[in-house]
Amino acid sequence: MVLEIHGSMGEGGGQVLRTSLAVSLLTGVAIRIVKVRQGRPKPGLARQHLTALRAAQAVGRARVEGDFVGSRQVTFDPGSVEGGEYVFDVETAGSSTLVFQTVLLPLLLRAKRPSTLVFRGGTHNPMAPPFHFLQQVFVPHLRSLGAKVELHFKNYGLYPRGGGEFHARIEPCAGLSALELLERGPLLAHEGHFIVAGLDVRIAEREAQAYASFWEHTRVQAEHAGATGPGNVAMASLLFDRGSELITLFGARGISAEQVASNLATEAQAFIDSAVPVGEHLADQLLLPMLFGAGGSFRTCPLSRHSRTQIELLHQLTGKTIEVEQARATAKVCVPSL
Ligand code: ATP
Repeated sequence: MVLEIHGSMGEGGGQVLRTSLAVSLLTGVAIRIVKVRQGRPKPGLARQHLTALRAAQAVGRARVEGDFVGSRQVTFDPGSVEGGEYVFDVETAGSSTLVFQTVLLPLLLRAKRPSTLVFRGGTHNPMAPPFHFLQQVFVPHLRSLGAKVELHFKNYGLYPRGGGEFHARIEPCAGLSALELLERGPLLAHEGHFIVAGLDVRIAEREAQAYASFWEHTRVQAEHAGATGPGNVAMASLLFDRGSELITLFGARGISAEQVASNLATEAQAFIDSAVPVGEHLADQLLLPMLFGAGGSFRTCPLSRHSRTQIELLHQLTGKTIEVEQARATAKVCVPSL
């Protein structure tokens, strides 16, 4: 049996491919994705998606057709998921964190021995989880469900040069527990982290200083990230009694350091005011682990198109329905267990 998925569904982006690959490895059911990334200006596989496909092929001993840049149709027939040592290199500044997310759950729930992995490429990309989001938000939530995952940062990879690297160790576990995350409790820590690469470090220092002026008890840090880029990343990390969020912005030509800090402060304030424990991006990323774990529920902001696409896709792939109770400014998401 081959399950056919239209890559044009919902948002029609790379997530349809990566989620389908992960589910195929988890269920052992072969998939064919047609019209890959049809919703994007340059449809078909880009380097990042091809690396995710090759990574899924390697860990799942899969037979693959259509694995080339620009490919609009991919067939994936998985074998057994094998833990071990792997190196996955996007070879451009494309996101390496999205490659990690493709193979994480299969190695966690289906492999019989631990894996050590090296990921190379972009580590801080617009439209993808920055490494620090994995480290401070996504992986800690998985750990709270019983997952044993360790991440080690090596160096930054920013557009256009890439060349970043991080390592992961994933220990298989029998299953994940249920997640109940409806309240988040008080804010315990708030930090601003400003990075420049291939630019004057004083830009990051000005951002840090401006950010600190908006809040009373905030730690700030300015860092020079070496030769990658040139680029500027601004991150606000918020730790609550239950849950965490990391908001990321990218500096750009024509936007002053003070403006970048002010924009970040506005977004951080909006998240603090929202009172939800799960942010927009974490919401779409939790659905797969919860569905293949013991399910549960969480409260988040109104769902992004991305989350709605993921819910529809998971229904097509597994037959399971994720329920959403939409209130005015929040949504409660209830995920069944497979
Ligand atoms: P495409 O290249 O087709 O646009 P893609 O392969 O880059 O797509 P998407 O389908 O857009 O990927 O999925 C991007 C993923 O990155 C989503 O899970 C989204 O939640 C996550 N993401 C985007 N921005 C952030 C951010 N600032 N912090 C955390 N996660 C993020």
